[in-house]
Amino acid sequence: MPADHYNPDIARRDLKYYIFDWDDNILRMPTYIHLERKLRDGSWVPHLVSTALFSVIRKDTAQYRPPGGVWDRAFVEFRDPATRTESKFLEDARTAIDRLLSGDDKSPPSFNTFRKTLREGRIFAIVTARGHKPESLRKGVEMFIDRLLSTDEKAEMVWNLRGYLVAYEGPAANESMTDEEVVANYLSMNRYHAVTNPDFLSAVRADPAAPGADNPETRKQFAIMDFLEWLFKMIERIGARRPISVGFSDDDPGNVAAVADFIRRVLAERFPAVKFVVYDTSDPDVEKGHKLVVSGQMALF
Ligand SMILES: [Mg+2]
Repeated sequence: MPADHYNPDIARRDLKYYIFDWDDNILRMPTYIHLERKLRDGSWVPHLVSTALFSVIRKDTAQYRPPGGVWDRAFVEFRDPATRTESKFLEDARTAIDRLLSGDDKSPPSFNTFRKTLREGRIFAIVTARGHKPESLRKGVEMFIDRLLSTDEKAEMVWNLRGYLVAYEGPAANESMTDEEVVANYLSMNRYHAVTNPDFLSAVRADPAAPGADNPETRKQFAIMDFLEWLFKMIERIGARRPISVGFSDDDPGNVAAVADFIRRVLAERFPAVKFVVYDTSDPDVEKGHKLVVSGQMALF
């Protein structure tokens, strides 16, 4: 597509950003958690659990436990071991996409919001309890774009992204890039946080202001804070003065409650210009999930 083909109105658009949980929110992945389940006679047997079921039973420690009591062993499929040439994340994303395209599965609640986010070229973060490297998540997003956006939708995405380049980086930056480079540049502006990845954990532990690395909820808070600080650096750099909203979606009610609480306690004060909207997508039959406006009144930044 020629570089002079771009969305000229993009600089007037509202500043809307999203934080997405991945599993059962964007895609329904065939990745299993390895647990043990207690039988009536008190013995324990191996038991594979889907991420959707795990979000319901994860507090039921009387009936379920990780193998040998070691959580790392429960999440072997959620890591990128050095022995694998392709991330299990990418392999499972391929299977999930195949199932969607063949009609064997219906899309999770934030699937269409994610597609729209990509088409509009909006900045987003993936925040997941998985333990993969950021590059693995990014490759999953590349595969999503490649296989789930039509040719017209990909063209629309590039048209919008070139609009942002012209508005905020100047026409020369836009003209210097091929379509592929425009998309790669966009993907490198997003954040990919798998909060049980060893490098991510080291970053949390190295930050004295971090809320603690010991549970998934506080690690997700660290990832959300990182994304907001990253966003605000960018917004200040481009000097945009328009309403800002940040949406967060997750199908795990425990995460939704923890994030809503974090917004009220910390983020509302730290980022008073932001309207925070939380989507509880725990009911797979409710498109986009249940919307909860947690804070903000669309004040100008
Ligand atoms: Mg999930």
